[in-house]
Formats: sequence, structure tokens, C-alpha cells
Amino acid sequence: MIGLKERVLLVEDEPGIVKGLSHSMERDGYQVTSARDGEEGLRLALQTKPDMIILDLMLPGMDGLSICRELRQRPQTRDIPIIMLTAKRDDVDRIVGLEMGADDYVTKPFNTRELLARMKAVMRRMKRRTDEEDARINAGVLTIDPEARIATKSGAPLPELTAKEFDLLHLMALHPGRVFEREDLLRIVWGMEHYDTRTVDVCVGRLRKKIEDNPAKPVFIVTRWGVGYTFNPEG
Ligand code: CA
Repeated sequence: MIGLKERVLLVEDEPGIVKGLSHSMERDGYQVTSARDGEEGLRLALQTKPDMIILDLMLPGMDGLSICRELRQRPQTRDIPIIMLTAKRDDVDRIVGLEMGADDYVTKPFNTRELLARMKAVMRRMKRRTDEEDARINAGVLTIDPEARIATKSGAPLPELTAKEFDLLHLMALHPGRVFEREDLLRIVWGMEHYDTRTVDVCVGRLRKKIEDNPAKPVFIVTRWGVGYTFNPEG
């Protein structure tokens, strides 16, 4: 990505901060777009899918936490790093909490250099995460290649996996041994547009037919009764 500027969306209603921050970020090589209220911020985030969002907590209209929640619920924006600007120490627990999912925060009044350093750190973490997610996974006889979106078993390509089947397999294989609840899988793989957890069971059933020797006795995607599914990398 050399030569491409990272695009930052700044959602902030105080003109002085917008002006000062935009200037500093541009000087540091970012391409900055700004929004002055919550609705415009959300709209621009969804339309332009920036590389990072600097999000003020207190905004006219929709507040920063609601925007954060909205963005985290949508598959196309859930991975965009978000740094929150907040004046209230009390909100910090909620801001960086798992559900809100901000990646970091700075408390107003803040030092611009401090914020720029946080932005770099968050970008680095993001890059590392992306590299891990793009890496090929070997799990026993299974190989999963996320860049080519191909899975093989003992070297032979598996019968065509649908997009969701591939995403489900890849997500679970990225976290071997972790137990995923059906609701988690629905949220992560399908986004929020489906609410029926049977969707997950149907997808797992089809996937097992393609990857397991005996789908009735699965060894890769294992059911944890009453909880969900887990991926066993040993097969
Ligand atoms: Ca504000």
C-alpha cells in the first residue's frame, strides 16, 4: 500500500478541533474527511469505508457510542479501527468494552501528538491482524487459503464451498479450540440481517458434508451441546 494515503474520517462538532486535527493529520500523511454531527458521520463511514475513524463521544444528533455500535454490527464496517474522543472519564469502560468495540480513546483536552501516536499504534495492530487473517491455515489434513478462498483436504480441493461456508470455516479455524455460540457466528459471519440461529446449524451441516470423512461423526467442527461449535485443528 506504499504511496496510498490512509483515509481518516473525523467525526467532531467543535470547529476548532476539526481544523487543528485535520491540519496535523494531513501533515502526517493522512487523507482526512470530517463530519460535524452523528448522522453525517455514520453516513460517511458507511459510504466511504475509511481506514480509521476518530469519533467524538458527544455529538449533536446521534452520539459516538451509538455510531460505534452501528458500525460494529455491520460486516462492511465492523473492522474499521475507531478511536474515541471523550471528555468524560466515566464513559471509558463502556467505550472500550467489547460490545462498543472502540479500539482506543483519548480524553479531552488531548495532546495532538498523543492522538497521532495512538493512531499509528492502532494502525499497526490492525495491519498485524490483517496479515494473520490472510495467512494460510494448516489444520491436520485441511488447508485453508483465505486469499484464494480455497480449502483443500489432503491436497485435493474440497467440493465448492459457498461464501458463508468458507467464512465460517475460516473464522473457526483462525481460533482453534474456541467455543463459538451460534449467536456469535450469526453476528460475525452473517452480520445482523439474519436472526435465526438455525441458519448456523444448516451451514455447519453442509460444511461437514464437504470436509468431514463421516459427517455424522464430525472431527473438525465439533458440537458443544447447549453452547455452540468449536474447531478442532487436529481433525
Ligand atoms: Ca462534541
